[in-house]
Amino acid sequence: MSEHKRPEPKRLFIETYGCQMNVYDSERMRDVLRPLGYTPSDKPDDADLVVLNTCHIREKATEKVYSEIGRLRAHKERRAAEGKTTTIAIAGCVAQAEGEEIIARAPEVDLVVGPQAYHKLPELIARAARKTGERLAADFTAQEKFDALPARVADGVSAFLSIQEGCDKFCTFCVVPYTRGAEYSRPMADVLAEARALADQGVREITLLGQNVNAYHGEGGSFADLLNAIGEIAGVARIRYMTSHPVEMDDALIALHGAAPKLMPYLHLPVQSGSDRILKAMNRKHDGALYRDIIARLRAARRDIALSTDLIVGFPGEREQDFEATLDLVREIGFASAYSFKYSPRPGTPAAAMMGQVDEAVKNERLQRLQALLFAQQLAFNQSQIGRVLDVLVTGRGRRPGQAHGRSPYLQSVHFADERARDGEIVPVRIVGASQNSLAGERVMAATEAA
Ligand code: SAM
Ligand code: SF4
Repeated sequence: MSEHKRPEPKRLFIETYGCQMNVYDSERMRDVLRPLGYTPSDKPDDADLVVLNTCHIREKATEKVYSEIGRLRAHKERRAAEGKTTTIAIAGCVAQAEGEEIIARAPEVDLVVGPQAYHKLPELIARAARKTGERLAADFTAQEKFDALPARVADGVSAFLSIQEGCDKFCTFCVVPYTRGAEYSRPMADVLAEARALADQGVREITLLGQNVNAYHGEGGSFADLLNAIGEIAGVARIRYMTSHPVEMDDALIALHGAAPKLMPYLHLPVQSGSDRILKAMNRKHDGALYRDIIARLRAARRDIALSTDLIVGFPGEREQDFEATLDLVREIGFASAYSFKYSPRPGTPAAAMMGQVDEAVKNERLQRLQALLFAQQLAFNQSQIGRVLDVLVTGRGRRPGQAHGRSPYLQSVHFADERARDGEIVPVRIVGASQNSLAGERVMAATEAA
């Protein structure tokens, strides 16, 4: 018999809230916990360890955490009655921002771990089992985390890869600089090693992630250098990146959109508002004219580039005419998709203390008007694909029998009848139908990446 005892098999359930960076982090937590014998479960009921990977960006997201902890308490008690132990861990940005409070308010929570401390999970779980030591780990840097994380295990043909964390921009509404800390870029060699490992495991599409991904300045090269180097990895067919800040869209990066064949013709570029007064109060460091100019240059570099954005309504001091300026900008640019939010005051951010907080009813009314416009643009963009043949990266089976599912170059979800399509293949699909959220198509014979 081997001297090394295999770890007891255990089940792990992770609930992920918020942005793609949390989706990436949840995957990395699975990688950290795998050697301890944890296999993923898709429900908390049979889980020995439940992790809530939380989001602090808006008040609603934070409130959810406390109601979910309440649900987990009942779950823990039920399992205890069956003689089973359940460890509850709170991770993510709420853990970072409100760790002490969670510890004080929720005795059923066994450990609280900030976004830079996931490599410490095995130690924290052992401590929790012994009921000794601190329950909170939040004092680490992004560099310590990335240096200590184990090899990446791919899940599917499309993968996220975090290359940059934190933010030094300090938009007045945003908690990210406080929860994720100062901007840190991973060395280019480390990012490339992870990208190659993903490609070796069959990944075809890589989405580079960062709170300000295009501000990347890791040891070894610029963001454009990194995109070029990833483009050279055999097996990687598609590259995307998010989330970008307008002021970091430099000439080299814009030019790359017309020159790098693997860079997909889709860009998420948050503008937040169309009013220069509000953009200034938000400390966004760009105005409407600069944003319009960047879009014009991107479209000159890549004619068919599809655009997405983030918008906030009801920022303090927003008047009807400021909101109208946002509608004007949206009408003028035409977005293929967008995320729109009501301004949510966050404790400790400058905007939360500003005069002129906008009534909830006004925020609701503006959000409705804005979303009516955005949804119409999204539908129109999807409908404009009807009759085109798009290259679709197959990501899985559709809901109906015989149906395959994939993504267009513009990140649209596409369903088409095809028994044979294999995950990771890129197949030509003629688009025959469109709704606001997806396209329907038919596979055709010859392949061409979208023009
Ligand atoms: N770094 C990105 C940028 O500069 O746009 C996005 C970061 S944030 C995780 C994603 C989006 O959440 C922001 O673009 C913004 O629209 C929205 N957001 C952030 N703080 C908010 C707040 N206090 N209230 C409402 N929306 C907010
Ligand atoms: Fe938040 Fe602004 Fe930084 Fe984006 S750029 S993460 S919105 S502070």
